Amino acid sequence: MQRPLADAYGRVATDLRVSLTDRCNLRCSYCMPAEGLDWMPHDEVLTDDEVVRLITIGVRRLGVREVRFTGGEPLIRRGLVDIVRRTRALDDGLELSVTTNALGLERNAQALAEAGLDRVNISLDTLDPARFATITRRDRLDDVLRGAKAAHNAGLTPVKINAVLLRGVNDDDACDLLHWSIDHEYELRFIEQMPLDAQHDWHREQMVTADEIFAKLAREFTLTPAREPRGSAPAELFLVDGGPATVGVIASVTRPFCGDCDRVRLTADGQVRNCLFAREESDLRAAMRSDASDDELADRWVAAMARKLPGHGINDPSFLQPDRPMSAIGG
Ligand code: SAM
Ligand code: SF4
Repeated sequence: MQRPLADAYGRVATDLRVSLTDRCNLRCSYCMPAEGLDWMPHDEVLTDDEVVRLITIGVRRLGVREVRFTGGEPLIRRGLVDIVRRTRALDDGLELSVTTNALGLERNAQALAEAGLDRVNISLDTLDPARFATITRRDRLDDVLRGAKAAHNAGLTPVKINAVLLRGVNDDDACDLLHWSIDHEYELRFIEQMPLDAQHDWHREQMVTADEIFAKLAREFTLTPAREPRGSAPAELFLVDGGPATVGVIASVTRPFCGDCDRVRLTADGQVRNCLFAREESDLRAAMRSDASDDELADRWVAAMARKLPGHGINDPSFLQPDRPMSAIGG
């Protein structure tokens, strides 16, 4: 029997973001410090079987219709292809994607497509090698470009590109990124920088806002709304020069879309989070390792979602950043 992952505000979560690791091979400055973080101990990270068991409960019992694998960097999880294959075997109609920095995607794209992955979201903030090295603290731009091309060739389409603009670093790269994305048939989306970095360095004045992004793009492109209303999709989508190319802007801070949120998150160590910004989690790993039945795990999951707050509260004076950084939650 299916039970919805419903909350007290009428929202139902159907989109599950599964973090497969908190580790990463880049060090994006808006995400984590140069020296990395204290990674989760291996025995706290869910095994492949535990991940698949929880996804199965989500899909078979709780109405999950979309699964996105993320991290940390999901491509460094050895079992990724197998986890995708086992998730696909649950249901042909599930929408399956991976959010990745694309390092190593060139090698894995075909195998992921054959395992049943639908598409990838690739994070790329600049096309300038020096700026890329400044932002990610690694000189790997070429690997990302090759990874994106391999994903496109493997049919993991539409390849979506996620870009974060940083003031004084890459904030004049918006138009170049859009020209490049259109030329390669990738779908570009800009994301406002959020207070989820491990260093707690986020400052509102430093954030490049959606309005600023529109102004920059308007210098070279004509943007018209591509869909109304945006529903549960976080990106406001625009036709570029009349279409068919589009560009999205995810204005999580200046235009929150919490009222339409349909997401739920599972961390690599088996905690259900009902919001990126939640300050409370529900420990499914401990329950699972104490022999909880699928029914009991589903009950816990439903209860965790019922406690979801109406909004993330970033704009409230009392806002407190969650203890976990983005890389340990799963973006
Ligand atoms: N490593 C993978 C990647 O970079 O795509 C997946 C995990 S990463 C945490 C997921 C997304 O979160 C990336 O698109 C990244 O740019 C974004 N991100 C990380 N920190 C962020 C922040 N403070 N504000 C906004 N987006 C952030
Ligand atoms: Fe790694 Fe992604 Fe964070 Fe960059 S944004 S450091 S690629 S987890």
